[in-house]
Amino acid sequence: MTDHLLRITSRDGNLRAVAAITTDLCETARQLHRTDPTATIALSRMATGTALLGALLKDDQRLAMIVEGSGPLQKIHAETNAAGHVRCSIKQPIAGLPPADDKFDVVGAIGRAGFLSVVKDLGLKEPYRGTVQLQTSEIGEDIAYYLTTSEQVPSSVALGVSLTPEAKVHAAGGLLVQALPGCDDATINTVESRLTAMPPISEQLLSGSTLNQMLSSVLGEIPCSESLQTPLFFRCNCSRRQVAGVLRSLGSDELREAVDKNETVTITCEYCRKAYEFSPGEVATLLN
Ligand code: ZN
Repeated sequence: MTDHLLRITSRDGNLRAVAAITTDLCETARQLHRTDPTATIALSRMATGTALLGALLKDDQRLAMIVEGSGPLQKIHAETNAAGHVRCSIKQPIAGLPPADDKFDVVGAIGRAGFLSVVKDLGLKEPYRGTVQLQTSEIGEDIAYYLTTSEQVPSSVALGVSLTPEAKVHAAGGLLVQALPGCDDATINTVESRLTAMPPISEQLLSGSTLNQMLSSVLGEIPCSESLQTPLFFRCNCSRRQVAGVLRSLGSDELREAVDKNETVTITCEYCRKAYEFSPGEVATLLN
């Protein structure tokens, strides 16, 4: 199954659910950032959670989610848009932690203390920014906490990532369910208990479940409108012009030194790792 997301709304408009399969884009991110297994899972959860939130964007809107924690990974940044393009970066790609309770120690890698921020560019004058303290550092629960408290939309988020024995991404995906105004407690409780009872997302994907089946198992008999499908890709929108802007912000002393020594300056995109080279002549032009 190629990466995509599926968005569905109950016919009475009280519930919204999004499911995503992100295996390929998470594996691309792993290869680009050369993460160790624990970091791969943390980065994949961030990319998947961001893709789920992206399902709520329209037209030219963009969204970024940032986690900054006290653990060795330091900072993970993931971005998406309404077209399903996802890109992500990680400050330290190696967590270097032993497993905890026979599982990859994602919580230790992110760190128990820290913040999750969501920045939305909705095409208004100022981007919207919401920040919450990390609750469990598992990421899924932290996103749910952010949506419930900061955006005041009661939400549940389940994220699943499993790796092959060679530590490649074998399956990755996620599910987001939101109770909209008008949703009664009985419905919320039913959906919550189905989510809790559900097998892990990655397990469902590996056993061949489709996103439609996953959504049906949570929403059950609730009548829903037709689902909307969006393909998902790892795609970076960096450009030479944008990177030149970053270069200019480095400060003129550093750039002048490169020109004086006749050195080529290389800037690597933090998301897709593409290297942009600037000759001494180009750097000199930027300086003027
Ligand atoms: Zn890039």
